[in-house]
Amino acid sequence: MIVMTPEATEAELAAVRARLETTGVHVLVLPGELTTAIGAIGDPEGVRELGLEGMAGVDRVVPISRPYKLASSELAHHEPTVFSVDGHRIGAKDTFALIAGPCTVESREQTLEVARTVAAAGACILRGGAFKPRTSPFAFKGLGVPGLQILAEARAETGLPVVTELLDAAHVDAVAEHADVLQIGARNMQNYALLEVAGKLGKPVLLKRGLSSSLDELLMAADYVLKEGNERVVLCERGIRTFETATRFTLDLSAVPWLKLHTHLPVIVDPSHASGDRRLVEPLARGAAAVGADGIIVEVHQDPEAALCDGPQALYARDFAGFSERVAAHAALGGRALA
Ligand code: PEP
Ligand code: MN
Repeated sequence: MIVMTPEATEAELAAVRARLETTGVHVLVLPGELTTAIGAIGDPEGVRELGLEGMAGVDRVVPISRPYKLASSELAHHEPTVFSVDGHRIGAKDTFALIAGPCTVESREQTLEVARTVAAAGACILRGGAFKPRTSPFAFKGLGVPGLQILAEARAETGLPVVTELLDAAHVDAVAEHADVLQIGARNMQNYALLEVAGKLGKPVLLKRGLSSSLDELLMAADYVLKEGNERVVLCERGIRTFETATRFTLDLSAVPWLKLHTHLPVIVDPSHASGDRRLVEPLARGAAAVGADGIIVEVHQDPEAALCDGPQALYARDFAGFSERVAAHAALGGRALA
């Protein structure tokens, strides 16, 4: 929609109209009491490239169609995207994905024990970081490739597929060898080159919302993966920066039903990183189920006090079976069973 200034002349209006007509869009002039608006119906990209904002008599150009194309449910893609990770259906309206595991792979014993615990309690995917994005460069950055090998061992023993973070394109071969699902962390949501690398691999991608990213930006980031021909993308709301400091981040639960309206992609919630406090993880997980999330991703540790990363938000492994049962009961209220 092109809105003219109140002073725009007939000649300026005609010039805008003529320029629009060069692109083949359908042009509709809508005279108002104060200003005239011109509707351009057709390819928004073509219109964007015309430089209409700079023309005499133009006040502003207001896009009506959404800036994300492939992730949008408004265009060709009306059906929700559903895909299977090792036989577990993600994104179906009758399944709820419980993804759980340690924040970080610290040792073989720690990871295998947590993996057994979450597998026994109905998790469908094991999480665990081998390459960790840390705010301080002096913090523990993960075991790297040996960490991936431990995850592979946990997979072999429990049968659980593994999600782990792809932090850097330089690690792509090693991570792809062991991961069933690639995680793009919040800090890398706008690392467009990395998104393309992840898209090209063809493995499912768990894309976390950036710390200060809008939902439009999240969906445009998803477009980077989708445009590589990879349809298997899961979006994750993991809390955003707000003025509130009581919790580590502010969990934007409204993101879930909003995303459900505007995208066909599955949406999960990470109550662990959002809250930073294990006492809040269960109520937020139940909330995620109540607002229609396709699942959650949570951190679990057998001895959180000794954890090398994110101990305060880790659920006790000994409490996980009860946690899983109670969250599953809430998901069941929405017609969903554990994936
Ligand atoms: C994680 O899930 O391991 C993690 C680092 O989360 P985020 O990228 O959301 O901070
Ligand atoms: Mn963590």
